Amino acid sequence: MATKERVIVLEARYDAELLSRRMREILDAFPLELEGKNVFVKPNLLGPWDGESGVVTHHLVVKALVDVLEEKGAGVQVGDNPGVRGYGRAGEVGKTTGVAEAVGDAWVNITRSPVRVPIKSRFIQETSISSQILDCDVLISVPKFKTHVGTIITGAIKNSFGFLVGGEKARMHAVAPLLRDFGELVVDIYQLRIPDLIIMDAVTAMQGNGPSCEDIRFLGKILAARNGIAMDTVMACMMGISPDKVPMLVMAHERGLGPANLEDIEVRGPMERIERFKKPSTVPRMTWTAPIQRLVFALVSRHALRVDPKRCTACRTCEKGCPADAIKVDEVPRFDASKCINCYCCYELCPEHAISLNPFIRFAQR
Ligand code: SF4
Ligand code: SF4
Repeated sequence: MATKERVIVLEARYDAELLSRRMREILDAFPLELEGKNVFVKPNLLGPWDGESGVVTHHLVVKALVDVLEEKGAGVQVGDNPGVRGYGRAGEVGKTTGVAEAVGDAWVNITRSPVRVPIKSRFIQETSISSQILDCDVLISVPKFKTHVGTIITGAIKNSFGFLVGGEKARMHAVAPLLRDFGELVVDIYQLRIPDLIIMDAVTAMQGNGPSCEDIRFLGKILAARNGIAMDTVMACMMGISPDKVPMLVMAHERGLGPANLEDIEVRGPMERIERFKKPSTVPRMTWTAPIQRLVFALVSRHALRVDPKRCTACRTCEKGCPADAIKVDEVPRFDASKCINCYCCYELCPEHAISLNPFIRFAQR
């Protein structure tokens, strides 16, 4: 008989000592070769919220993991590419979430190192992701236990959406606006680099219309697994959501990436269905919004960046930092939209804050 994928569920609180113990238990349960390895830790830092909001992975969870990994001889880096309220602002989001300060030198602004990679997908041929994701020896995903109006749940699989730099996420929403298509595309991205271990912050759980509604409740758990599909199946069942209603899980299971049925998973620890958990009110609006999303993306991708000539000193920092050679600075920068990969490095790098995102992106952010 084939071995079942294992998910462990541990009691936890946002308490540094307890979390440190939990991380050791997890690394004992799922051993990894860490000595001298380059480990990348990918929390869910959706945007400018702190850990108490329940929107992002709590900084104490990330810190406890990083400390234990470093003790075991790993070289650790931590980072994320934020979502729509933080496109191109990874540095600022690192501060707001408290993660950058908590992990010290391990923090890295991964938005600044995009690489263009091919992707097996029905929707796109290539995309821009942070190089650290591909270069690491070990990838540990640290998602948050949350609902999502677009994908129903946002856990292990969806955390990989943060591989994408800057405004690349907007393009994905536009090319696959329907719920099922978007779920499939998220699985395509997950497969670019499947995490070696997943540790989920479920000390608080977001219910209702996540991923940023701040309707949270105390759950007091940390979940861990090697397989993201098994992890998300367990999370969905705890939420009272049938895995066969989650397109990402259906697609990932069909591709043989993991089990999407609780009976095929070995769950160790206190796993139970959460009483009266609020589900997201998701599906119907996705169809009629598809053309609007396509239009917004077309406008965003073609005219994303603006320069304030009064602020610009023609220092060329943006030109030197552009990974796609899409900027030429004369008196002010000129952008070549045909080369631009939507990473927003220039926006983040400009020392004078002379580059801004256009009103369509601000509209999307609202
Ligand atoms: S980095 Fe900013 S100030 Fe320097 S050239 Fe570019 S837009 Fe102008
Ligand atoms: S112009 Fe260059 S740095 Fe700016 S978003 Fe486009 S590719 Fe990135």
